[in-house]
Amino acid sequence: MIMAMDIGGTKIKYGVLNPSGQFVSSFPRMFSTPETNLVPELNSLILEIQKDFPLKAVGISIAANVGRDGTVFHATNLPISTPIELGRILTENLGIPVKIENDGNCAALAVSKSPGIPENDTFVVLTLGTGVGGGIIYNGELMDSDTGAVAELGHISLDPEGPLCGCGKQGCLEAFIGESALVERYNRKASRQLHSTLEISRLLETEDEGALDVARFAGETLGRGMAIISDIIAPRSFYVAGGVAGLGVPFLTATRESLSRQCFLRLFTRTPSVELVKDAHLLSLKGAWVLAS
Ligand SMILES: [Zn+2]
Repeated sequence: MIMAMDIGGTKIKYGVLNPSGQFVSSFPRMFSTPETNLVPELNSLILEIQKDFPLKAVGISIAANVGRDGTVFHATNLPISTPIELGRILTENLGIPVKIENDGNCAALAVSKSPGIPENDTFVVLTLGTGVGGGIIYNGELMDSDTGAVAELGHISLDPEGPLCGCGKQGCLEAFIGESALVERYNRKASRQLHSTLEISRLLETEDEGALDVARFAGETLGRGMAIISDIIAPRSFYVAGGVAGLGVPFLTATRESLSRQCFLRLFTRTPSVELVKDAHLLSLKGAWVLAS
């Protein structure tokens, strides 16, 4: 059996999966990310699970830049000092292989094992939430790197004079369509105090003008970012997941129109499709299982 974990800035999800990728027992479970001592906490959690399940390996998805060898180089929202050879440390402590990968890359791995995905496919997964991240499968292989600074899709700059991004640059895709930017846009225009894109997506059902504006703006802007990615790797598809991707038909339509108007492929062949990932909340956790399988 494989233990999979998904370590985010606020929550850690984990579970034990059988060789077919099904959760066993009462998994998946979740708890709040500890504010200190992340590594000892992970170590003791895995040891606890090992008492009850014969684990072959552990796969960890983490909101961080992770090198090919399992070294975590950069993690903005986690109680961990970097760089740290987390993969090697946990493998030595536990006596079983522990594989670690960035959460966006894990999401891409999970999609790569979904029904109907061709063997040597090229596609992009975009996770659209508080942050904008993702992963790229190129000719059937995950694009990774020694430093883990790969597929930083949320930090493609669309406007050097645009809004300031958390990374210190201006006009990044994330600075335009990260959840807080979209909620701020809605509140500014509608003089309201919403807190999430989930609230905005509910307002779409009532044809709320402000909600439609946010959904169309997010789609138009995302399509511009996708066109840049498309011009580099010409993927078959883009898969979108996360809260912002829940902005319904107006969002998806605007994304598709924007991409097909701006990518180079439009000149002579079909443009990449844009598809919504369903049940995306466990995507990175499932990717961690793929990683360790
Ligand atoms: Zn940025």
